[in-house]
Amino acid sequence: MNRVDAPAADVIIVGGGLVGLATAHALLSAPGVRRITVLEKESVVGAHQSGRNSGVLHSGIYYTPGSLKAELCRDGRARMVAFAETRGVAHETCGKVIVATTPEECDRLHGIAARGKENGVRAELVGPRRLRELEPALDGMEGIHVPDAGIIDYVAVCRALAEEITGAGHLVVTGARVTAIDREGSETVVRAETAGVSTGGANSGGAAESATYRAPLLVCCAGLHADRLARLAGLDPGMQIVPFRGMYYELTPQARSYCRNLIYPVPDPSYPFLGVHFTRMTDGRVEVGPNAVLATAREGYDFGTWSVRDLAEAVRWPGFRALSRRHWRKGAYEIGLTLSKRRYVQAVRKLVPDVTEADLLPCRSGIRAQALDAEGNMVDDFVMLETDGQLHVCNAPSPAATASLAIGAYIARRVTARL
Ligand SMILES: Cc1cc2nc3c(=O)[nH]c(=O)nc-3n(C[C@H](O)[C@H](O)[C@H](O)COP(=O)(O)OP(=O)(O)OC[C@H]3O[C@@H](n4cnc5c(N)ncnc54)[C@H](O)[C@@H]3O)c2cc1C
Repeated sequence: MNRVDAPAADVIIVGGGLVGLATAHALLSAPGVRRITVLEKESVVGAHQSGRNSGVLHSGIYYTPGSLKAELCRDGRARMVAFAETRGVAHETCGKVIVATTPEECDRLHGIAARGKENGVRAELVGPRRLRELEPALDGMEGIHVPDAGIIDYVAVCRALAEEITGAGHLVVTGARVTAIDREGSETVVRAETAGVSTGGANSGGAAESATYRAPLLVCCAGLHADRLARLAGLDPGMQIVPFRGMYYELTPQARSYCRNLIYPVPDPSYPFLGVHFTRMTDGRVEVGPNAVLATAREGYDFGTWSVRDLAEAVRWPGFRALSRRHWRKGAYEIGLTLSKRRYVQAVRKLVPDVTEADLLPCRSGIRAQALDAEGNMVDDFVMLETDGQLHVCNAPSPAATASLAIGAYIARRVTARL
């Protein structure tokens, strides 16, 4: 294996998902930052959560007022729409409805509407008639119409961000898996195994090698591996990433008229996930999903992919056992949705009663990186861990895609104060 020393940078960013790329993008205009290096282990940017999500621009209605999620989602959505317009990325502010189908859900729906008001999100409580005007196939008792929610092509956003970063003379090194992080004096030294693929500059032209990167500042945005990167740097994040796989179906072209825009159920307040929803994608397809089951590997997008290490780490974490005891019933229900299309259809028919099994085609899956604390609580807000010269994004679940440009600006402000 060849060993090379890469040119020193001012900031190294680990992770070529939306959060890492948005951070690099925000640093382009930061005073004192002359050289940025982004390290991504896959051969393309946006290969994991950022490229395998629902493609929704969230409005910020759900989140606890005053939380980072509430603040950065609203700001991030506006930044994302502006970025998409400038760069010609497919997007649309099409609005969405959240639909209550039982009296109990109506009560919770009112709580969400009140929260939206506190968060400054435009939202209107609507009755069944207006719901049907908005989404004719719906069957609901009451709903919330959120006009500012939308859809976007996040893969195209990742590519556009990477292009702007490399276009400004910085590096996005793909095929570079970070394997060691050490602090030496005022510098952080990062070692990566590289496959010899790169965008925008220095690399090897094919041979596998180990490269060393140095910078006074390191920002880790490693998504499904966020806790591992923090531990690699000798930090204790106090949480474990637990991967939750979500399976999507797609409506057949004939059945696409069941959903004009975005149809969401009232989320269960005990979980950070929004429930199986209907999403019109920017290419006109309509996806239905995702559910949420423990993934058999952090990047195990199908049942055939297992990782003993990933499973053992999840199960050994004390919080995981607490979570399983508390939520085994919900866990069993979600597994049922994965194993049985009939059950999946039953679940979605609560919202759109005419959908049949024949209307749903198997589609893709995505895996959410959800941080779990030692007591078994799913960490709700975005979490960043800062130490001398390093910032680790330890929890960036939904709506971090929507919020990514605001998260990037937030991180850039924090780290450049240290330069
Ligand atoms: C099924 C699903 C649906 C979702 N729907 C939405 C939605 O509609 N709207 C929304 O706003 N949010 C949504 N989200 C959440 C959103 O996608 C994520 O919060 C966001 O993409 C997180 O971005 P990230 O950059 O932190 O992580 P990622 O996109 O996962 O990027 C992390 C990157 O780090 C790299 N990496 C990890 N370890 C290393 C290493 N050792 N060396 C080098 N590179 C490494 C990975 O390869 C990866 O590319 C959804 C998520 C999922 C999974």
